[in-house]
Amino acid sequence: MNEGRSRAEVVVDLDAIAANTAVLREKVGRPLMAVVKADGYGHGLLPAARAALAGGADMLGVAVIEEALALRAGGVGAPLLAWISGPGEDFAGALSADVEVSVNAEWSLDELLAAVRSTGRTARLHLFVDTGLSREGATMAEWPGLVAAAARAQADGEVEVVGLWSHMAYADAPLHPTIGRQVAVFEEAVGIARAAGLTDARRHLANSAATVALPETWYDMVRPGVAIYGLDPLGGNAADHGLTPAMTVEARVALTKRVPPGVGVSYGHTYSPTTETTLALVPVGYADGVPRAAGNRAPVLAAGAHRRIAGRVCMDQFVLDVGDDPIRPGDRVVLWGTGRDGEPTAQDWADAVDTIHYELVTRIGGRFTRRYV
Ligand code: PLP
Repeated sequence: MNEGRSRAEVVVDLDAIAANTAVLREKVGRPLMAVVKADGYGHGLLPAARAALAGGADMLGVAVIEEALALRAGGVGAPLLAWISGPGEDFAGALSADVEVSVNAEWSLDELLAAVRSTGRTARLHLFVDTGLSREGATMAEWPGLVAAAARAQADGEVEVVGLWSHMAYADAPLHPTIGRQVAVFEEAVGIARAAGLTDARRHLANSAATVALPETWYDMVRPGVAIYGLDPLGGNAADHGLTPAMTVEARVALTKRVPPGVGVSYGHTYSPTTETTLALVPVGYADGVPRAAGNRAPVLAAGAHRRIAGRVCMDQFVLDVGDDPIRPGDRVVLWGTGRDGEPTAQDWADAVDTIHYELVTRIGGRFTRRYV
């Protein structure tokens, strides 16, 4: 293994992903679908999937069928759900690869049934009900019709309805009144489906925040994503939930220079040192997923000290004011990591740039290389 000497690296701790999965699986004591969409939340689709399975995940969830097919092509044989279904979706591809799918509407079920007939394969189907997020899912007005159509298709042997599911709007605010309302709507929807004969389907509702904080939402399976990667879905400290961040983002200083007080730093000169100082150039920028909003706001760990990014983040680089620290080209700068060695966490960055850690980890990429440890 190299010693991490490359220009810029995203270092992914696969044991942490496995351990986080095991912690959550143990906590809920029921099946767990590990969500590995969006390139495993920026940690790498296949490695993240394998690590989650090693940690005891019972199945994997992705957003789009292409992601599921990439998992199959990579040799992942575990049960898989790909849930986005728009018009013209490659349901035939999903069925041929034994990928479970989800529909939100009767027209989409019709498209699925056409794929069932063309491939001769029975679909393993999840029915999505909108319980209050107003995103995917059939509305409660549409639900009985969708359920009846799916029950007919099941009676005809064309589909097996294996999931009844929904997604929460406010699970990260465990006391929010929306939670009880969504749970009540979900139970009503499940009742309608069961009365129509869809009795064997697993009910699943809980994302990471609900997995961590809302046992009443666990039902027959939980569906965590961000917590698998060791990020606290409640925006606090991951260690409080027994979770370890799996991603460390680091780069090597490309250049240092001594400058007098008053120089303007980076585009627009939004930063000026007040005393003579050393500037260090870090060769990653917004094209690599370092948010431009991090300029003058986000912290990094450089030569053992926290330093704020000085001036604007550019496309390929940003600058640090490191004072009189003896920092040199080649020295390591950590943008975010576990926090164990004093480095900022993705949560610290999220707070600094007014976003969520989900956005940071899924966007980091560009010319960073990935290293698995
Ligand atoms: N379920 C669905 C439908 C999702 O869209 C997501 C992610 O956005 C998840 C589960 C996992 O969410 P989280 O990463 O908050 O656990």
